[in-house]
Amino acid sequence: MTVRCSVNNCHYWDTGNYCKAKDIMVTSDAMGDRMPDSFDAPRADNAVGTPVTSCMETCCKTFVQKGTGKERYDSIMRQ
Ligand code: SF4
Repeated sequence: MTVRCSVNNCHYWDTGNYCKAKDIMVTSDAMGDRMPDSFDAPRADNAVGTPVTSCMETCCKTFVQKGTGKERYDSIMRQ
């Protein structure tokens, strides 16, 4: 699957609005707020369901701000 994304200050963002992460974790805003950065795609198998009612209530938990030095914390690799 190709993921298109406009968040161009993310470490995984690439020219043309492509996400170049190997995996991403999308969850509810509430879960994203509550869980630490380590709650990411590698832990998705055991994540509980987080139903929402609109796209406004979802977020990309894999986002890492480019240049912050936190790129290694989430265990996600760039392709
Ligand atoms: S990790 Fe999430 S925020 Fe970052 S480029 Fe991919 S989809 Fe966008």
